[in-house]
Amino acid sequence: MDIIERLKKAEEVIWYNPNYIEFNRINDELPISLDEVKEAEDRLKRFAPYIKKVFPEVVDGIIESPINSIDKMKDRMEKDFNKEISGRLLVKRDDLLPIAGSIKARGGIYEVLKHAETLAIENGLLRPDDDYRILDNDDFRNFFSNYTVQVGSTGNLGLSIGIMSAKVGFKVIVHMSQDAKEWKKNLLRSKGVQVVEYTSDYSKAVEEGRRLSNEDPKSYFIDDENSKDLFLGYAVGGMRIKGQLDKMGIKVDQDHPLFVYLPCGVGGGPGGVAYGLKLVYGDNVKCFFAEPTRSPAMLLGLVTGLHDKISVGDIGLDNKTDADGLAVARPSSFVGKIMDKILTGAFTIEDYRLYEFLKGLYQEEKIFLEPSALAGFLGPILTSEQYKGKNITHMCWATGGSLVPEEIVNSLLK
Ligand SMILES: *Cc1c(COP(=O)(O)O)cnc(C)c1O
Repeated sequence: MDIIERLKKAEEVIWYNPNYIEFNRINDELPISLDEVKEAEDRLKRFAPYIKKVFPEVVDGIIESPINSIDKMKDRMEKDFNKEISGRLLVKRDDLLPIAGSIKARGGIYEVLKHAETLAIENGLLRPDDDYRILDNDDFRNFFSNYTVQVGSTGNLGLSIGIMSAKVGFKVIVHMSQDAKEWKKNLLRSKGVQVVEYTSDYSKAVEEGRRLSNEDPKSYFIDDENSKDLFLGYAVGGMRIKGQLDKMGIKVDQDHPLFVYLPCGVGGGPGGVAYGLKLVYGDNVKCFFAEPTRSPAMLLGLVTGLHDKISVGDIGLDNKTDADGLAVARPSSFVGKIMDKILTGAFTIEDYRLYEFLKGLYQEEKIFLEPSALAGFLGPILTSEQYKGKNITHMCWATGGSLVPEEIVNSLLK
């Protein structure tokens, strides 16, 4: 049956991208270059001493997460689905990313820091070869307090940008969609962040935030639907995987492909990570996006070629999902157009499975993730039908979870 018909019925689907092009044939045409990603990585290095100073839990000032092997979870999934997963199973622990507890600590923090650096340099207060620890000072905080940062979010981006902006000294306003969890709003308010609540979905929160920010010349809007800087922050994370896998002795080449499963909302996080992975591994990495059956925004945009010109509402879906980080009805067209040629595929997952994976992963590996972060786990089951071979490495990108309050953790594990 036609894939759109199946999406309309909120069925689980897997889609292999017919537009995929060998990476070295398309790379030069993409709007982001390797040099820009390296520049982003250098910027994060410049900020490392500052990060370490203001967030001592970030031991070396570099915001990064580990990769774990999860053999017991692999056995559990094979048993539960009565299917074999070819190769090994890894999890990328962005749930453990410091400061924001989710993948948003990559893009969000990067863009806030870049904005702060730009303002300070333009005003003659900072030079790139300074020790950035000088930024942790009341004079700088007073300077930054003249400026506002705003963002629209389903929750986690707001957390990341709110926490980092408040630390730098910016005024910060987070526009939260109806999906945003109460605890995320409360945590932000406790850090002095102004939270504006909407009774509408994510796109509306972004639109209103953008409009209000544009009215104020001293306000900067972090635009989750269009931001190149967010994308670059995520891409650095993708690029760093090679160093981590090399250290673990895990080879990735033509005979040892890496399959990566990324939960997708508007697309910036998974898109940036996928792009960074392609830069280091080319065609030997196969990236898949995972979305809820009722919010398959990116998949619909890719299949129809309409990107942000189509919403899941246009095919009768209600964009209601417990995966708050993925509750997005309309994708980023900036990201979708890049993914069109480099994404291997995408699939959808029903909400009830997120809870099964959530409990399974906790029981087998003592890892707790928030529901959105589990969407990728169906990937190895699905792709193992198509790709066989013991040399495959599957990596599920766990996108968030460590900041979830204990009462909610307990209720989710019940
Ligand atoms: C935001 C988020 C995603 C998806 O990132 P997008 O940039 O919105 O596509 C996935 N998982 C979690 C937990 C998130 O917060």
